[in-house]
Amino acid sequence: MFQVFAGSGARKKYADDEQQRTDAPDQSADGEVQHVHICILGTGFSGLGMAIRLKQRGYKDFVVLEKAEDIGGTWRDNTYPGCACDIPSHLYSFSFALNPNWSHMYSPQREIQAYLCDCAQHFGILPHIWWNNELRDASWSDDEQRWHITTSQREFTTDILILGNGPLSEPALPHISGIENFEGEIFHSAKWRHDLDLTGKRVAVIGTGASAIQFVPQIQPKVAHLALFQRTPPWIVPRLDHPISEEKKRLYRLLPFTQRFVRTRIYLRQELTALGMVYNQKAMEKGMQFAREHLTRQVADPELRAKLTPHYAMGCKRILVSDDFYPAVAQPNVEVITDHISEVRTRSVVTEDGQEHEVDVIICGTGFHVTDARLPQCVRGRGGQTLADAWSESIHAYMGTAVPGFPNLFLLIGPNTGLGHNSMVYMIESQLSYLLDCFRTMERKQAQVVEIRSEVEAAYNDEVQQRMQKTVWASGCVSWYLDARGRNTTLWPGFTFEFRRRTRRFDRQNYDLLPQYIPLTT
Ligand SMILES: Cc1cc2nc3c(=O)[nH]c(=O)nc-3n(C[C@H](O)[C@H](O)[C@H](O)COP(=O)(O)OP(=O)(O)OC[C@H]3O[C@@H](n4cnc5c(N)ncnc54)[C@H](O)[C@@H]3O)c2cc1C
Repeated sequence: MFQVFAGSGARKKYADDEQQRTDAPDQSADGEVQHVHICILGTGFSGLGMAIRLKQRGYKDFVVLEKAEDIGGTWRDNTYPGCACDIPSHLYSFSFALNPNWSHMYSPQREIQAYLCDCAQHFGILPHIWWNNELRDASWSDDEQRWHITTSQREFTTDILILGNGPLSEPALPHISGIENFEGEIFHSAKWRHDLDLTGKRVAVIGTGASAIQFVPQIQPKVAHLALFQRTPPWIVPRLDHPISEEKKRLYRLLPFTQRFVRTRIYLRQELTALGMVYNQKAMEKGMQFAREHLTRQVADPELRAKLTPHYAMGCKRILVSDDFYPAVAQPNVEVITDHISEVRTRSVVTEDGQEHEVDVIICGTGFHVTDARLPQCVRGRGGQTLADAWSESIHAYMGTAVPGFPNLFLLIGPNTGLGHNSMVYMIESQLSYLLDCFRTMERKQAQVVEIRSEVEAAYNDEVQQRMQKTVWASGCVSWYLDARGRNTTLWPGFTFEFRRRTRRFDRQNYDLLPQYIPLTT
């Protein structure tokens, strides 16, 4: 039985494994460009999960490209104080690698990253990773029926390309007039400046999303003044985080089915929320009442409470969990500012009411490029068309996985696979099974190329968008779930078990399969 020991020196063990790191040359001995069967992008839950499942199935000829020099994606990059998952750890982890040693119900970032490092090590993935290799270009060749890959370090070809580059990996800075002239320190929460001591500083925080509500309570006690610029208040429910006792950990180690039972219970509880978000918005009423009571309990000042009270349907934006955000913003050194920012000057932030707020540091908790990421610009399918071109109107993919015109290209947690209520790892694992079955089918049918039929993909996306109309996400709020045209291209509009059912088997009837390429000269 696989058991990881997150938080108990995992980082050191990983460092000891340094010699396992591959730095294979990009040219074979006779000067030909190296070829690999499968190339995976990224070492977050997606890329790493894919690599592990391939390895378990006996695949050897695959590489994992990683632009950074460590594992973890989201959990490597987001190191801000207080960073932790907001789906309980028992569920926010691989089903094939339960960790009986989670320290908390919602474990902190370091522990999640250590868990991913342990998984990579335990399943023998480290030798497959090409570190510091940023994907710069991926071009499909119809003649050769393979992808030509250019990274920051090498060139090679691959039969199959799997993108696990993550929907939340490109931090988005706000477009505010004059922000480039700010003379203090400014940074994004995903690139936390640990070298900067915030003690006694006047700090502006822009945004009150999932990251900000985690780091604001951590920095509030040390800063002189915190100006919190809020566009829309989030719905916040109690987190009820707590350490997991040593007895429970022992039980999970001894009898792993008990942890699986807890995991299933959490899954079902989380899944219930989809009922209100997707099928019956009235079901959210109870949740809103619960959240209002939480606010009332934690914030005594009616004026501040009014500022923090959301006026849109719960679930339309991500529902947040916190026990310490409201108490932190109720402190005398915090000011919640709801007027929109009009400009940033060399030493201040100015709001539309003309007020000038002098600050030393600006922290942007302003989210990520979700529907407008850079990577699609460098992936070229048939005829040289980029993924960005194919997505010029809006991003779309069959099962969030396959795009017509891009043979042998697969996306992990691509368009419309996001969740507002449950663990993304569940969605990732659904896709991993789907792809393994796809590769098995390719082998059985001796197919070199698979490509989703465009009419199938179009019908699928119509269905998704049709279903989206009735959800809480279409109830009128502004959120990062929506693209510039107001389409929700981010979330899965249903129960996650429906997604799992639909991806359990590779549906080859919906794809064109081309046979192995045999040059005429042979
Ligand atoms: C602060 C935060 C908290 C979150 N909490 C939760 C939670 O509690 N529950 C939940 O379900 N979800 C949560 N999420 C969502 C989270 O992003 C996903 O759950 C999951 O971690 C995504 O994994 P991934 O592997 O797809 O992407 P990532 O973790 O983003 O990994 C992508 C990897 O690809 C690499 N990469 C990207 N571009 C390139 C390139 N061009 N070349 C080479 N390598 C590249 C990156 O370096 C990175 O290592 C959270 C997200 C954030 C930001």
